[in-house]
Amino acid sequence: MKMHQFDVVVVGAGGAGLMAALYASRSANTAVLSKLYPTRSHTGTAQGGVGAALGNSEEDHPEWHTFDTVKGSDYLGDQDAIEFMCNEAIPAVYELEHMGRPFSRTPDGKIAQRPFGGHTNNITKKPVRRACYAADRTGHMILQTLYQQCIKNKVNFFDEFQVLDLLINNGAAAGVVAIELATGELHVFHAKSVIFATGGHGRIWEITSNAYAYSGDGVAITLRRGLPAQDMEFFQFHPTGIFKLGILITEGVRGEGGVLINDKGERFMERYAPTVKDLASRDVISRAMYLEMKEGRGINGKRYLYLDVRPETVNKYAKLDDRRNPDGSLYQVTGEEILARLPDIIDFCRTYLGVDPIKQPMPVQPTAHYAMGGIPTNKFGEVVIDENNTVMPGLYAAGEVACVSVHGANRLGTNSLLDLIVFGKHAGLRAAEYARGASFVPLPDNPTDFAREQLDRLLNGKGDERAADIAAEMKHTMHDHVSVYRTEDGMKQALDKIRELKERYKHIRVDDQGKIFNTDLLNAWELGNLLDLAEVTTASALARKESRGAHAREDYPKRDDQEWLKHTLAWRKDGDIELRYKPVVITKYQPQERVY
Ligand SMILES: Cc1cc2nc3c(=O)[nH]c(=O)nc-3n(C[C@H](O)[C@H](O)[C@H](O)COP(=O)(O)OP(=O)(O)OC[C@H]3O[C@@H](n4cnc5c(N)ncnc54)[C@H](O)[C@@H]3O)c2cc1C
Repeated sequence: MKMHQFDVVVVGAGGAGLMAALYASRSANTAVLSKLYPTRSHTGTAQGGVGAALGNSEEDHPEWHTFDTVKGSDYLGDQDAIEFMCNEAIPAVYELEHMGRPFSRTPDGKIAQRPFGGHTNNITKKPVRRACYAADRTGHMILQTLYQQCIKNKVNFFDEFQVLDLLINNGAAAGVVAIELATGELHVFHAKSVIFATGGHGRIWEITSNAYAYSGDGVAITLRRGLPAQDMEFFQFHPTGIFKLGILITEGVRGEGGVLINDKGERFMERYAPTVKDLASRDVISRAMYLEMKEGRGINGKRYLYLDVRPETVNKYAKLDDRRNPDGSLYQVTGEEILARLPDIIDFCRTYLGVDPIKQPMPVQPTAHYAMGGIPTNKFGEVVIDENNTVMPGLYAAGEVACVSVHGANRLGTNSLLDLIVFGKHAGLRAAEYARGASFVPLPDNPTDFAREQLDRLLNGKGDERAADIAAEMKHTMHDHVSVYRTEDGMKQALDKIRELKERYKHIRVDDQGKIFNTDLLNAWELGNLLDLAEVTTASALARKESRGAHAREDYPKRDDQEWLKHTLAWRKDGDIELRYKPVVITKYQPQERVY
């Protein structure tokens, strides 16, 4: 066992972790631990854009951004935090620009902006250009820029160190335990402040846009240490994943004028969202797609629809919608322009599907995409541990692993990258400030015991269960019963199945007994995390007897503000899940019906 000591330890090197590290390292000795090499983090795959009401192409205001986010969240987002994020968006994007982050540009050299789902001009109700982008490589540019800045700022990186446990003493964070993947050795990182920025957990579903690394380690670790997870029933299904593969086709495709088409050749979103159509928010579109397919209008009766961005289609609907450029001329595009704005998407489709989106429509289906729920925090990134928002000293979370909550029941596109840079920064600042005034909490006795125990149980297992089989059954069950639409019966079946799988998981066998890069062992450990999160997600969803945002129940199809305008907090207690609730922060915007 090796020991290290830092003022601030950041777990995760995606957008949120690097932003936090950059800010913390300006005044505190900071380390970043990451199971992946930093630039391989999922932030690097983000395509479409980062939202900020810069107003570079047309009129826009942070107030409009705030209202769109509140409405998009189906009124479950905390309005004080949303307002904070949307105001901070503008300086945050300019700050990235000044760090040297490349953006696509307008002809006069400003940061270019494109429309995205749910972002509107609050007066005309039409889509507004708010997403700042770098072609379809927005996340890649953010990640590279932040990594370079961290290197410049002499942040200490521990690459390919996987955190297995959070150390707590006297009710305060004391550090983390990590395994060094190259050697199998356990390391203890003693810290004054710990920031979790470990990303999401979409790998509990069969069809997902998420990276293999999205195994929910952060939430699983904190749950095991007695902390709650918030709003886990809300998981976003993005409407356009590549059929069967789940790989994401950015909403930017629809931002550039692409439309969804059913087997009858209809642009069906006209029926479900007459004003914004294909740019309604993601929950609305995923449900519309599900209904189209259920009613037999999937392409050739199958479980997919077409996303069509061929220039002739874009131009036809732009004319019908009277879509205009900022200078007032009619919006019309050429194949070359589409290719320049969406190069990676075109490349994915050509490579994985043999489909050329300039000439053919793309087969798409909803894909598990984004965790609205996670470790509860306030707007400074401080982790809160109960319904009274009591702060745990020294513990912070930011990015997809955290639930601030700015996304409520449904996140708007481009608001996650925004969440990373705003709350990553504030978590880093707070953590460093706290570290300046605090002394080290003593480490608990035998700090590596709990982590060691978890690994040994897997290594010594003598059963004949295989991690891959259990994972496949979990993903299938969650996809069938806890995805776009949910029912009491389906979720009960899912919960029983997950609990059966958790039993079988105890009899798992790990073949590789070695120490060096034992991915067999760590995959099995990650599966344990996914099973825990599948259970919490399903238990939270089963209890919520209403439909709100991404949580749509066939048996309770209406939103019920009387009973359910509240956040779920879930704890693991004695082998079961305990649920409690806390109020939503409402400032200016009283809940209304969502109309698109
Ligand atoms: C395909 C795709 C496209 C997207 N496009 C957009 C978009 O255009 N706009 C937008 O706003 N959002 C988009 N999103 C969402 C957004 O990109 C993610 O929510 C966001 O990047 C998550 O950032 P993060 O910093 O929280 O986590 P990540 O970038 O995933 O980083 C997580 C980090 O945690 C580390 N880690 C995890 N577990 C451990 C552990 N146990 N020990 C040590 N380290 C650990 C990993 O190594 C990694 O460095 C997209 C998401 C996907 C999947």
